[in-house]
Amino acid sequence: MKNITTKLKKGDTVQVMKGRFSTKPTVGKILDIRVDKKGKAVVFVEGAVCKKTVRPKNQQDKGGIVDVEKGINISNVQIVCKKCGPTRIGVSQDGDNKVRKCKKCGDVL
Ligand SMILES: [Zn+2]
Repeated sequence: MKNITTKLKKGDTVQVMKGRFSTKPTVGKILDIRVDKKGKAVVFVEGAVCKKTVRPKNQQDKGGIVDVEKGINISNVQIVCKKCGPTRIGVSQDGDNKVRKCKKCGDVL
C-alpha cells in the first residue's frame, strides 16, 4: 500500500468541511483512512453517511434508502481542537518525538 502523507490518524475527531453532508457540520471520529483508486487519501468519518437508494433485488426485498459510509477526501476534513474548533495541525519536535499541535492555540492534539 502506498504511504499516505497525512497528519490525521484513526480516532481523531474531525469536522467535515464540505461535501455531501451539508445539512449540518458533521463532527465525528475517523474510523478509517484509506487510499482510493486514484491514490488519494480518503477518510471514513463516524456519522458522515450518504443516503443511497437501493433497488429491490427481488419480490421480498422492497429496497429503500440506506445510510452508506462514504470516503471523504482528506482535504475536506479538519481536525477539531477542544478549544478552537476546526483547525490545522502543526507539528513540532519534542525530543525524539513529533508532536501534533493546534496551529491556533498550540495545544497538543
Ligand atoms: Zn486550538
